[in-house]
Amino acid sequence: MSFTVLTAEFSHESNTFSRKPADYAAFASRNIQLGDEAVAARSEANTPIAGFLDIGRPNGWTVIHTISASAQPCGPVTRDAYERIASVIIEAAKQNKDRLDGILLGLHGAMVTEFDQDGEGELLERLRAVVGPDLPIGITLDPHANVTSKMAALANIIVAYKTYPHVDVRDCARQAAGILQRAMTGEIRPVTIRAHRPMLEEINGGRTDIGPMVERIARARAYEQKPDVFAVSVNGAFGNADIEEVGPTVLVTGQGDLSAHHAFAEELVHDMWTRRFESVNTYLTVEEAARQANAFDSKDGPLVIADYADNPGGGGYGDSTELLRAMIAADVQDACFGPIIDPEAAEELHRHAVGDRVSIRLGGKTDPRVGGAPLALEGTLLLLSDGDFVGDGPMLGGLKGSWGTTAVLRVGGIDILVATFPAQMLDLQQFRAFGIDPVAKRVVGLKSMQHFRAAFEPIAGKVVVCDSGALCTPDLTKLPYKHVRRPIFPLDRDMQLAG
Ligand SMILES: [Zn+2]
Repeated sequence: MSFTVLTAEFSHESNTFSRKPADYAAFASRNIQLGDEAVAARSEANTPIAGFLDIGRPNGWTVIHTISASAQPCGPVTRDAYERIASVIIEAAKQNKDRLDGILLGLHGAMVTEFDQDGEGELLERLRAVVGPDLPIGITLDPHANVTSKMAALANIIVAYKTYPHVDVRDCARQAAGILQRAMTGEIRPVTIRAHRPMLEEINGGRTDIGPMVERIARARAYEQKPDVFAVSVNGAFGNADIEEVGPTVLVTGQGDLSAHHAFAEELVHDMWTRRFESVNTYLTVEEAARQANAFDSKDGPLVIADYADNPGGGGYGDSTELLRAMIAADVQDACFGPIIDPEAAEELHRHAVGDRVSIRLGGKTDPRVGGAPLALEGTLLLLSDGDFVGDGPMLGGLKGSWGTTAVLRVGGIDILVATFPAQMLDLQQFRAFGIDPVAKRVVGLKSMQHFRAAFEPIAGKVVVCDSGALCTPDLTKLPYKHVRRPIFPLDRDMQLAG
């Protein structure tokens, strides 16, 4: 029996506090590829479509890949962007409805649109309206998903990545596709159960390298070995989304004794609640980070300082100047810093020649109330580039990316990567392609939350993290929530669970 499967990748992590909407241009600047073009670019990398095809090809599936679309995390997706991308998927489902045996979607799980708090639930609802209630649908999610009741009800199969940094995207997509194969043959009839707690997010942002999530993932994997259990997903959630159903979830995709699965999911999600004060990160101020930089002995590799708060991977603007200001004030030598997302400055630097001394106002322009005002700097222009790179690390290996119009400016002892398109620093090539070798530096300042560890921890003498006060500050109590259900942790820090 050979099956016909419709596939798509459509992902956005929407930070509802961001001033920048995810419009169609935001998707186009990062990734919109149709059908075969998307397959060619993405099927040998750490992507959902790669994992779907790893299972689909040997099983002789006819795969109808519709679209791969993602934008850098920022504010909610505009109606225009959502309709244009979703309609590619829905139209393909309509055209092929009579021959489809299943659907696989690579989603994020924290998409908010201008008109709906649950972008993925809306997509699943539109698909169900076309294909009916019985066609098996499988989805993969980022564990920073805010999984809604609607998503769990409408997708038979849900598999979230089990690592943060997310190095197992392709593996998890294989797992979802393998479950779909068994569902299409009629061997199994999976459903997905959801358990949730009233928290904005898991206390350590879902990190899986150390801390309590290590044990939770081990328990999830052990439960997956049971005969009627196909996947267990532990989602730390995305707390920068001001929506009713924000918060950590545990999902069990299975069949048979659903009440037992439910009890397991409740017990595991409850562990995120009971250990809600067990933070494993210590956030330095930018001044403390700069002081450590000057005292650091780099014989075993550079000191890597990650600014969590201005993480473009969580919707930070990437133009916070606080950490850079402190490093310059402390006259840190033999250092690099990146990125500063400032399209205006990047354009201005491109009007000069390499080697020029340049004065410039850098960063802090999107919203100087968070993360600092523009810096008036003078430096030497080291490099001009179109910003294109090809990743070679555990997350981006083999994938093309671009910073857009890019320049490197040396100010004092710091080589600063000035870029146009926001992205989190998580692959060495994001520096190296622009003449900066982080391995050879004493100090590396970067904007990222946790993901940088996959590529940068192996080269680092030491890693420290700081909170610059920018939009993605780990202190969520500073954000003006309006839509989340109250009480919720940590906004209502001393709350008790009802019942
Ligand atoms: Zn994530």
